[in-house]
Amino acid sequence: MSLRVLVGCKRVIDYAVKIRVKPDKTGVVTQNVKHSMNPFAEIALEEAVRLKEAKLASEVVAFSCGPAQSQETLRVALAMGADKAIHVEVDDATAEKMEPIHVAKMLAKIAADEKFDVVLLGKQAIDDDANQTGQMLAGFLDWPQATHCSKLESEDGTFKVTREIDGGLEQIKVKLPAVFTADLRLNEPRYATLPNIMKAKKKPLEKKTPADFGVEIKPSFEILEVSDPPVRQAGIKVPDVATLVGKLKEAGKI
Ligand code: AMP
Repeated sequence: MSLRVLVGCKRVIDYAVKIRVKPDKTGVVTQNVKHSMNPFAEIALEEAVRLKEAKLASEVVAFSCGPAQSQETLRVALAMGADKAIHVEVDDATAEKMEPIHVAKMLAKIAADEKFDVVLLGKQAIDDDANQTGQMLAGFLDWPQATHCSKLESEDGTFKVTREIDGGLEQIKVKLPAVFTADLRLNEPRYATLPNIMKAKKKPLEKKTPADFGVEIKPSFEILEVSDPPVRQAGIKVPDVATLVGKLKEAGKI
């Protein structure tokens, strides 16, 4: 097989950063905060690169829509093994307003126009936890979708997919072209090594705008308020089980 694979690589606040809410409660602080590739997108990209290494894929294209710095995310994708990157650049204010539907529309246009066979995305982006882009994309393209994949196996021109569902694993067979979204256990992504980061600088990175895909980034909802989770109250220590039961009864918990 010589599949063409498109991978969505969103730049998000690094998973290890402690998130701070802006004083005016309109969002979270993103300035001067470490960002990196969304961890589930990294897993999607790793899977795409493995398809190429297994000679099932002929080309892996990494896509990112975001501010100028998203180029750094795409350079990491190229260093991990993508052949080419597409950066849809938007300013910071537009990036904050961007929703999965806008990204799905752009990906749909690329996937259809450039005849991709597989689109691999993360199951969710850890910033907004939307878990919507893959599903919307499959809808726009009218392609089959396999979300939350924990195993992908090529079988006679189709893919056998294992999905982690409540209480067990589900196996389904998916015809191509199709959209797949990666769950945590699909693989362990490789690190981008320094020599590969250097080599990635020579790989092609195309720059686009949302207008090139006929997409206008107009929000469909308004954020009323973003607030910190409630602070947990300090607990108390009890000397024995009888006191514990007494306290729980007092509090109406049992
Ligand atoms: P979401 O639906 O926002 O939770 O995102 C799910 C997945 O869609 C992510 O893991 C990415 O693979 C992809 N995705 C979402 N937004 C973008 C973006 N702005 N640029 C590239 N890929 C994206």
